[in-house]
Amino acid sequence: YAKESGRGRYAFFDTRIDERNRRLVRIKQGLRQAEANGELSLVYQPEVDPNTGEVRMYEALMRWNSAELGSVSPAEFIAVAEETDMIVDLTRWLIGEVARDSHQEPLKHSKISINLSPRQFRSDSWQDRVRDAIQDGALDPTRLCIEVTESALVEDFALANEQLREIKQLGIEVAIDDFGTGYSSLAYLKRLPIDYLKIDRSFVADIHLDPDDRTIVETVIVMAHALGLKVVAEGAETEQQVAFLREQGCDLIQGYFYARPLTLAALVENMENS
Ligand code: C2E
Ligand code: MG
Ligand code: MG
Ligand code: MG
Repeated sequence: YAKESGRGRYAFFDTRIDERNRRLVRIKQGLRQAEANGELSLVYQPEVDPNTGEVRMYEALMRWNSAELGSVSPAEFIAVAEETDMIVDLTRWLIGEVARDSHQEPLKHSKISINLSPRQFRSDSWQDRVRDAIQDGALDPTRLCIEVTESALVEDFALANEQLREIKQLGIEVAIDDFGTGYSSLAYLKRLPIDYLKIDRSFVADIHLDPDDRTIVETVIVMAHALGLKVVAEGAETEQQVAFLREQGCDLIQGYFYARPLTLAALVENMENS
């Protein structure tokens, strides 16, 4: 009996793994055609100065609406793209879109940040694309910010440091994304040419409930400011969270409280209604 149920369980897991693999294969195949099929788009989420309510930055976030799979979350497809070289093409596409959108309302009054995956940090083709866009006059480097996760920095500190220094020389700003989740040593903060720390959403979510989270957020803000860095808090959804972050001197706040990520058309519509 035990044996049989054991086999049953095994078969059950086997099916689940099969399903998972089939989905990954379909994502991989679909993603190859996504750009050509016009299935990719960008949404932009504001980062707001809590003292004035002004939008200082918009984070560009990729969306994939697949004809076959429907809308696939970036958490899922970016991971697949990273395992292959597809992330290089996706980022190439993204930089072209951002350069174009940066001249449109309301983006033209703010900075724009883009996300770079750890994996592509090992090649500098993304840098070439950025340089081309700057040389063409399509992109103003002083209005661009690049977000890199801590894990990208930890994986290859020397290379990341070198690449960041090169892009900083172009006038581009640098943010560490999801700060607090990536096991980076504090020494990195001193040695890397960074402008912003983005405190991960997981520390912001419970600040009204959990005194430890409040302490972490307060301390990160004090430390960042002492090091000459600005702080962005991710994922603020409530007025209470925003009030706490503002009191602590957080420079920018991003989250559903202010706005969800929106298409350019929706941003314009919001402006007209306000
Ligand atoms: P991220 O860079 O940390 O982006 C912030 C994520 O938090 C976004 O999820 C955003 O929609 C979500 N978010 C913002 N405010 C709130 C809030 O108040 N509540 C909640 N629950 N969520 C909030 P999204 O768009 O699903 O992107 C997930 C991740 O996928 C991003 O995390 C980023 O790591 C990656 N990603 C998205 N677009 C790109 C891209 O173009 N290139 C690369 N390399 N990665 C990307
Ligand atoms: Mg980001
Ligand atoms: Mg983030
Ligand atoms: Mg995050």
